[in-house]
Amino acid sequence: MRTENRVLVAGGAGFIGSHLCEALIAAGREVLCVDNLHTGAKRNIEPLLGHRAFELYRHDVVHPLYLEVDRVYNLACPASPVHYQSNPVKTIKTNVIGTINLLGLARRVKARILQASTSEVYGDPESHPQRESYWGRVNPIGRRACYDEGKRCAEALFVEYHRQNAVDIRIARIFNTYGPRMHPNDGRVVSNFIVGALRGGPLTIYGDGTQSRSFCYVDDMVRGLTALMDCDEGFSGPVNLGNPEEISIGQLAALIIDLVGSRSSVEYRPLPEDDPARRRPDISLAERTLGWSPSMTLEEGLKKTIDYFDNLVLNNS
Ligand code: NAD
Ligand code: UDP
Repeated sequence: MRTENRVLVAGGAGFIGSHLCEALIAAGREVLCVDNLHTGAKRNIEPLLGHRAFELYRHDVVHPLYLEVDRVYNLACPASPVHYQSNPVKTIKTNVIGTINLLGLARRVKARILQASTSEVYGDPESHPQRESYWGRVNPIGRRACYDEGKRCAEALFVEYHRQNAVDIRIARIFNTYGPRMHPNDGRVVSNFIVGALRGGPLTIYGDGTQSRSFCYVDDMVRGLTALMDCDEGFSGPVNLGNPEEISIGQLAALIIDLVGSRSSVEYRPLPEDDPARRRPDISLAERTLGWSPSMTLEEGLKKTIDYFDNLVLNNS
């Protein structure tokens, strides 16, 4: 009889992955965390290391792996532009070869497999808010292409393994996610602004700050990922997961300065190549099919994240 008990989390030592591992252990699953610790860290999973149901396997998914599991979450891939652009060829290999290896494993052991895809598949969108039916506007040769096209190829691989080999797949299109355990130096806007505000230094806005994003708290995201994995409906396409509360980057800077009670000023730098102008998920599909929607407000989630970085900055100063 197939169970759902033994779960592989590729990328489980990263930001979202470590919260997912914790939630799975709390739900009584056995978790095998596979990670090469490129952008993840052992300290993210420190509390789980002694747990009898948790195992860390240091491995690069670009190399095949032979394991017996019931479910596979594929989160292995650096997520921040700074990290994924530092070795773009490796980012493509992780998304393409790594995904083939995990899909091959899922096919062999008949495990259900979920892909952590991204809103980046929509590129710099002309359609707003973004629905799953929108095909996107991605520059295939720009600086973000290693990630965007890598993730698009991974979606295509998932769908073809499903069509050709009847692999039981799920695809989550994750929108900007934030919370404790974000990497402090990964250059992402929430971590940069919070660390900058706590240190009292200037916050750097790229462009004029009118570009928008919609930020989802990590606990809400993990709830969405597990709901999608556990949904027995069968694959009917990718599902957006994110928080539709949209905010401009300029407003985010002002909000974080206010919540930290900081005297930080704001500086402006040029906008990076292909930086999307607007982003907001249409989550009606997830609401309808999974009964899922995020519950954390941006202000409350930011307060929790500020507390986390406050401890980190204090401990390292
Ligand atoms: P992260 O960088 O913190 O986590 C990624 C993890 O994958 C790290 O632990 C890293 O060491 C591991 N990894 C990278 N390459 C690997 C390889 N070749 N073999 C084994 N392990 C490898 O990023 P995150 O923010 O936790 O994102 C997790 C997943 O969610 C990623 O796939 C990312 O693309 C996706 N996602 C994240 C966001 C977000 O806002 N954080 C948005 C959209 C999609
Ligand atoms: N950004 C910024 N200052 C920073 C970091 C990022 O103005 O210190 C901007 C960035 O140009 C983008 C937005 O904030 O418009 C979100 O950036 P992030 O890298 O967090 O996510 P992504 O661009 O991948 O959505």
